[in-house]
Amino acid sequence: MKKIRVMIVGYGNVGRGVRLSLGKNPDMELVGIVSRSPERVGKELPDVPVMAISDVEGWKKAFRPDVAILCGGSKNDLPQQGPEFAKYVNTVDSFDNHSRIPEYFADIDAAAKASGHVSVISTGWDPGIFSLERVLGGAFIPGARAYGFYGLGEKGGLSMGHSDALRTIPGVKDARQFTHAIPEAIERVRRGENPAFEPGDMHTRECFVVLEEGADREAVTKTILSMPGYFAPYKTTVNFVSQQELDEKYKGFPHDGLAIAVGETGDRHAARVEYRCIWGSNPEATANVLVAHARAAARLAGENRSGAFTILDIPPAYFTTLSREELLEHWM
Ligand code: NDP
Repeated sequence: MKKIRVMIVGYGNVGRGVRLSLGKNPDMELVGIVSRSPERVGKELPDVPVMAISDVEGWKKAFRPDVAILCGGSKNDLPQQGPEFAKYVNTVDSFDNHSRIPEYFADIDAAAKASGHVSVISTGWDPGIFSLERVLGGAFIPGARAYGFYGLGEKGGLSMGHSDALRTIPGVKDARQFTHAIPEAIERVRRGENPAFEPGDMHTRECFVVLEEGADREAVTKTILSMPGYFAPYKTTVNFVSQQELDEKYKGFPHDGLAIAVGETGDRHAARVEYRCIWGSNPEATANVLVAHARAAARLAGENRSGAFTILDIPPAYFTTLSREELLEHWM
């Protein structure tokens, strides 16, 4: 069987997870990595071909990728890299700025349609799996409102998108952001109240920030608390810590979440669906979902489809290597 040739674009936490995940998917192979800092990546992975992201003709010829998995940050990298790479190759990404997904979809759709490529956007676990679960919950329990809660455990969940956003602020050397679900909000949903929450009614955000030397604490705090979409709508606490404290106390990438829809069926009988994820490593989990979508992107491209797609547009059978017979016999 011809393997799907996958290229990684950008090598950070998710990029690392994608490399590991490809090793567990025998129908795929990692053909190379492109990065804005190829020396850094080459030093970490001396046995993997690495090229500069800007050498488009070079990597196209050397790697001949079927699909590029874009692993850059959602705030600054993907809005530029997504439409750019859709010109050259089929792509998959995990753009997670929910409020900007419609405009991101439109940008990528135009670029991918013009070049005849498939671009699967905004996948991972949320957006991604949870988007699908919300849509299914709302469709199967008409009138139910669907919700997503994150960080249900005591320590909360490490949000990589929000940590990434913090690290783009001038004066911030390193940072991690833990999201906490508000338990009373979950209880209201489970009771079937179907409340019309504002984002800040469901979660709080806890930031641990290491400052560059001489950086202005107050200015950084103000920038964080007023960042639209990311922190402004939430009760946010900002804690300044040393690099050592951050590395020792707040290491790792644990995360978890709950997608939930509550309503009634026919004769006013209570109905509730819940989908729960608990991840020891958020970037590795996100990477696994991206890799399954790379398989789907290759199949869609094989059918001469083009344009932007989300998880909602893709038949689930496209994510797996299982045949139709196997699916019908063992998985239905
Ligand atoms: P990172 O900050 O680790 O990496 C982002 C980019 O930064 C990399 O692609 C890399 O690009 C560059 N980079 C990484 N490490 C270094 C370094 N040491 N020095 C210089 N540059 C570096 O982000 P994550 O991988 O943690 O997350 C990527 C995005 O994934 C997040 O912004 C988030 O939006 C998204 N995400 C989505 C989820 C979902 O469920 N949909 C879940 C989790 C994350 P380059 O190699 O070109 O330099």
